Amino acid sequence: MKQSLRLGTVSGIPVGLHWGLVVIAFLYLTNLATGFLPDAAPGSSTFAYWGVALVGVLLFFGSVLAHELGHSLVAQREGIKVRAITLWLLGGVAEIEQEAKTPGAEFRIAAAGPAVSIVLTAFFLAAGFGMEATVGESLFATMVIWLGIINGLLAVFNLIPAAPLDGGRILTAGLWKLWGDQHRARTRTAQVGQAFGMSMVALGVFAMFNGGSIFILILAWFLLAAATAERRRAELFEVAARSSVGDSMTRLAPPADGAVTVAGLRAMAGEGSVAWPVRGPAGDVVGILPASALRRLKPKNAETMVARDLVVPWTDFISARSSEKLEAVVDRFRTQDRSHALVYDDTGNQVGYIGMTELAMAGRS
Ligand SMILES: [Zn+2]
Repeated sequence: MKQSLRLGTVSGIPVGLHWGLVVIAFLYLTNLATGFLPDAAPGSSTFAYWGVALVGVLLFFGSVLAHELGHSLVAQREGIKVRAITLWLLGGVAEIEQEAKTPGAEFRIAAAGPAVSIVLTAFFLAAGFGMEATVGESLFATMVIWLGIINGLLAVFNLIPAAPLDGGRILTAGLWKLWGDQHRARTRTAQVGQAFGMSMVALGVFAMFNGGSIFILILAWFLLAAATAERRRAELFEVAARSSVGDSMTRLAPPADGAVTVAGLRAMAGEGSVAWPVRGPAGDVVGILPASALRRLKPKNAETMVARDLVVPWTDFISARSSEKLEAVVDRFRTQDRSHALVYDDTGNQVGYIGMTELAMAGRS
């Protein structure tokens, strides 16, 4: 997720704001200043309502940050890198680099966020009601109680056992522990997430036609899209855990001259899919041109573009062994931010190529 405004770093993790937060901050602010506060604590000036509402909204975003920090700090303790925390439209997102390594770690990382929110709920409710009991009802105490309620809602909503919510990850941890198969567990939780997302879409449409806000529909759409993406990824990993690199790779053709046109390469390839090692002007192989790169090309460019124009240079590659599990390559693609692998056989010969197309094909088989 793109951060539009960097706030700073906490424990080495960049924390930022997404522009969408400005919209939602305004919504919360208006709601609090013109609805909740005047209803719950009447008799103050407009200025006082807006001032206290602003403090409340800032503390709410502080609470969301604390929830995300809960996930992030526990992830770091489990040896997992956290790329960034972004506060946005629907709360916060901690971008965690890898999956947890054990069901226990998955549970601890997932549960840490809602745990922080529950502690904040107890804290704000105790502080708010405590103030009311000792110094009497006040605008400020009402705002503190509102913070308690909204943190409670945040915890409860996030604990719904549907991916991508925290409760979904907790369910994943449980099923993973039960079945001993994390990919199957993730696929199931993502399916539950899709079903939940679809029910939310229905609820959102119903709410809109009955005078409700569009907010539920936006939230539902986000949940459904995220659950669908998770399901695709989980299914790919399920396949990747079963198949070897050798089963999924595209074989290498004999090296082609960099000056050969794309049309020429296509004619050479014939039916089967191949990847060509491409020679540079000095005659040495400078990289690989996968057939998948040619498919996206416009027909008129095939006559004029040559292999050297489209070659993927060696610097973009990681290496893989044909006997290793495809899963290991997917992992390295992610941690090293690459999408091309050169495959060697057990005697060290270059035999094949794995790219995103090969992964997608493996996922479909
Ligand atoms: Zn969370």
